[in-house]
Amino acid sequence: MVIIGAGINGAVAAAAASAAGLSVLLIDKGDIANFTSQQSSNLVWGGIKYLQGYEFGLVFKLCLARNRLMRHYPNQIRQIGFLASLGPTAPFGRLLGTFGTLFYWGIGLFGTRAPSSYSAKTAKQIEPNLKSGRTAIKYYDAELPDNDSRFVFDFVRHAISDGAELKTYTELKSATHSNAGWQLKLSGANSETVTAKSVINATGPFAKNVSDLLGSPTSADLVLSKGIHLVLNRKLTDEYQVLAFWDEQERLFYVLPMGDRSMVGTTDTRVKDPHTKVTKEDTEFVIKQVNAQMELADPITSADVVSERSGVRPLVIDAGQSGDVADWHQLSRKHAIEANKDLSVVTILGGKLTDCLNVGQEVVHELSQLGHKTTKPKNWFGEGDQIRKQEFFELVASRASAESAGLIADGIWRRHGAVGFEIIGEGNLEDIFDGLGVTSQEIRHIAKHEHVTSREDLLRRRLPVDMCRSKKELAANRTLQKLFVELGL
Ligand SMILES: Cc1cc2nc3c(=O)[nH]c(=O)nc-3n(C[C@H](O)[C@H](O)[C@H](O)COP(=O)(O)OP(=O)(O)OC[C@H]3O[C@@H](n4cnc5c(N)ncnc54)[C@H](O)[C@@H]3O)c2cc1C
Repeated sequence: MVIIGAGINGAVAAAAASAAGLSVLLIDKGDIANFTSQQSSNLVWGGIKYLQGYEFGLVFKLCLARNRLMRHYPNQIRQIGFLASLGPTAPFGRLLGTFGTLFYWGIGLFGTRAPSSYSAKTAKQIEPNLKSGRTAIKYYDAELPDNDSRFVFDFVRHAISDGAELKTYTELKSATHSNAGWQLKLSGANSETVTAKSVINATGPFAKNVSDLLGSPTSADLVLSKGIHLVLNRKLTDEYQVLAFWDEQERLFYVLPMGDRSMVGTTDTRVKDPHTKVTKEDTEFVIKQVNAQMELADPITSADVVSERSGVRPLVIDAGQSGDVADWHQLSRKHAIEANKDLSVVTILGGKLTDCLNVGQEVVHELSQLGHKTTKPKNWFGEGDQIRKQEFFELVASRASAESAGLIADGIWRRHGAVGFEIIGEGNLEDIFDGLGVTSQEIRHIAKHEHVTSREDLLRRRLPVDMCRSKKELAANRTLQKLFVELGL
C-alpha cells in the first residue's frame, strides 16, 4: 500500500502496517515531519484542559496513551512537572485546582508522580520568576526533549527496518482506481507512477484535499486552528519543568523546555489556509502574555526570540457541522479514521502525537477489514534494550569534558540507543554548541543514515539545534560550517 504523508500519523501507520506483514511505500512531499508534526508543543499528555469541557473519555484515553508511551520510551519521553500559577485569569482557585489535578492523576491511573499544591509564599520560593501573591498547583505529564519531528523519525526508522520503502520530497499528484487497484502519479526527483492495492491518506491538514484527489470523500470534516511558539535566547526557569499560565483570553499557555532555552506559546486562531507563519501580532501577543504573568528581572522582547514555529491543528468536526462552531476553543481533539471499502482507502483525520500508537493499531485493523492479510504487529515501536547504557555513559565520560559528557551521552543514547557506540567511534567528543550535547560524530552519522537531504532536515527535524540557536549563531559556528562542506549540505 501507499501511505501519503510522513507526519506522525503516516509514520505510525507505516510502522504498524509493515510490522503486520504488509508491503508499504511511505511518501511525503517534503521531509519526514515537515509540516504539523514539527510545530507542536512537544507534549505527550493526557489533556488536563479537556476536563473543563467534561471530555472525561478523551482524557482517560489520552492518559492511557501517554502512560503507554512513557513505558516504551524511557529516554525519548520524559516525565515533567507543570507548575501552574493561579492568577486572576485562571478559571479556578487553589481548592478546585487541587481537586482537578488529583482527579487528573486518578483518571491517568496514577501513571505519573503525585500532584501538589502550594501557598503563594512557597510557590514564589520554588519558582522566583512566578508573580508574587499567587498560589500554584503542580501536576505531571510528559514531553519530547528532542522535539516532535525526531519522534516521528523513530517510527519511520521502525517501518524501514520492517521492510517499508520511504520516498521524501515526493508528492501525490493524481490517482486513478480500477479493478486492478490504484495507479498513483508521484512527483519528485524522478516522477513516476506506482501501483497499490490500498491508499492511506495521512496528510494531516491536507486530508480533505487528498481525499478529493482520490475521489474518496470522508463523512467527517476538518477545521484548522493555528498555534505558534517562540523560542527565547534564555531559560525562564532554572528547573526542568513547564510553567503554565492562563492568558488574557483565559487560555492555557506554557513556558516549555527547548534544549538549553525556553519555548513559549501557544495560540489558538482559526484559519483556512494550512500554510501559516508567525506574524508580528502573534509575537507581540505571546510576549505580552509572558511578561504579564511572570516577574522577570529582565522582561522579554522580540530581540530575545531565536526561532519560531507555527502550525495548524487539524480538528475533526462532523460533516455539515457549521464552520461557526459555538465555542472554538472547546472543539474536540479526537481523531477519526474512515475506511472506503469500494476504493480501499483509509483516511486519518485529526489526532494528537500522544494518541499515535492507537492510530497505528486502528489503521491495521481497518486494513484487515479491507481484506488485507495482516498479522498482529509486533515490536513496531519503542526503544531497544538499555543493557549497555551505563557502559556507554562511562565511555563518553572518558572522552568528553566533565561539563559536556553527561549531555552528550544522554543525547546520543536518547536518539540512537546502542548505535551510539558506532557513532562515537574512537576520538574525543566535543559539544559543537556548549549546552546542547551534539557532537560532529553524531551530525555525520545522522547526515549519512537518516534520509537527510538538507541542512534543515538535519538541524531542524533530526536534531533540535535549529530551534535552540539563531541563524546568526549557526552561521558563526566554524565546526558546523566545515561539517556542511564535508557532508555536501
Ligand atoms: C501549535 C500546535 C501544538 C500542538 N501540540 C501538541 C502537543 O503538545 N501534543 C500532541 O500530542 N499534539 C499536539 N499537536 C497536534 C499534533 O501536532 C498534530 O495532531 C499532528 O502532528 C498531526 O500529524 P499528521 O501526521 O496528521 O499531520 P502532518 O504532520 O501535517 O503530516 C501530514 C504530511 O502530509 C504531507 N502531504 C500533504 N499532502 C501531500 C501530498 N499530496 N503528497 C505527499 N505528501 C503530502 C505533508 O507534507 C505532511 O508532512 C499540536 C499541534 C499544533 C499545531
